[in-house]
Amino acid sequence: MDKEFKLLKKGKGFEVYTQTRNKADIFYICREQDVSLEDLGIDLDNLVLFDKSVFTTPLKEIYIRHPFATKEIDLDYIDSSFFVFGKALIESETKYNRAPASIIVKDNEILGYAVSGNDYHEKHECIRKKKGIVSGSYEICPGCHPDVHSESKAIKQIIEKGKEDLMFGSRVYLYNHWWACGPCSEKLLAQDIHKISFSKSWTKEFLKIKEDFLPKKIYVGCSLTQAPGDFKKEVENFKDKLRGKYDVLDFVGLEQGTAQDVYEWDTKCVRDCDLFIAIATYPAVGLGYEIGIRHEMKKPMLVAAKEETKITRIVQGMEYSGYEFVRYNGLEELLEMLEL
Ligand SMILES: [Zn+2]
Ligand SMILES: [Zn+2]
Repeated sequence: MDKEFKLLKKGKGFEVYTQTRNKADIFYICREQDVSLEDLGIDLDNLVLFDKSVFTTPLKEIYIRHPFATKEIDLDYIDSSFFVFGKALIESETKYNRAPASIIVKDNEILGYAVSGNDYHEKHECIRKKKGIVSGSYEICPGCHPDVHSESKAIKQIIEKGKEDLMFGSRVYLYNHWWACGPCSEKLLAQDIHKISFSKSWTKEFLKIKEDFLPKKIYVGCSLTQAPGDFKKEVENFKDKLRGKYDVLDFVGLEQGTAQDVYEWDTKCVRDCDLFIAIATYPAVGLGYEIGIRHEMKKPMLVAAKEETKITRIVQGMEYSGYEFVRYNGLEELLEMLEL
């Protein structure tokens, strides 16, 4: 067991573990459904949800304590192609390597972006470092000043482009950092920006978050609209067998929810899960779209189709590490592949 990972508190129906990495306090909470966060008796200030199990009992959650957080800004950890863009941005501006990058996005359109820093530290010693300041007091050093943080620089860029009016309600994708400072948060609020997303994969790696605390999330997608009833029943049985060992995410289905609910929840599951299993035996536009999303993210995906059914060559021709196309006779063969 990781020696930095230790039990903080234990009570009726709950256990809280902590771990401190790179100045971050991480909380791992395991609680029964009827135990609320308040019941745990721990300081909940500035705790930001990193990840949680969705359908398991007890519930498992991972939180990170932020040095600064305000209720007016919604903070989350997600995976998004905007972080791929952020990573590339930092790599291209090698001068400020390892600096955070901010991408401000509205309705899927990038309004502005920037990497933190300027050339002050190249010519002068960092004033904060000289004084031994680890975090905060950015104002005292021209190279660390909040004005050169990526969030502020991106806002400035948007204003210079004359797109200031578009900024309200947009979202900041902050890469290479796991929290935002007070002065930057104030600048975002001044532009009516109330959302900051941090890269889940980057943070997971940087803070060495114990992934194995949470059961793996599996999302099973299949043809629904055009598929026969016995096929749907077979898929439900398959999912039941996965439960217990995995946190199996459920799709909204044919009857419940609105079309918008289906779109939002199902595509979120496709993006967030650890493994996406697409059972493509019957043709389905929705499933094809989900496979496309997952392919763009290059995350683990298994596409399965019954032997001798006709399958688009698009999915047979896909190739990346973590992707597999398989044929099956019965879905129990897939359980064997998943070592169940
Ligand atoms: Zn400095
Ligand atoms: Zn800042």
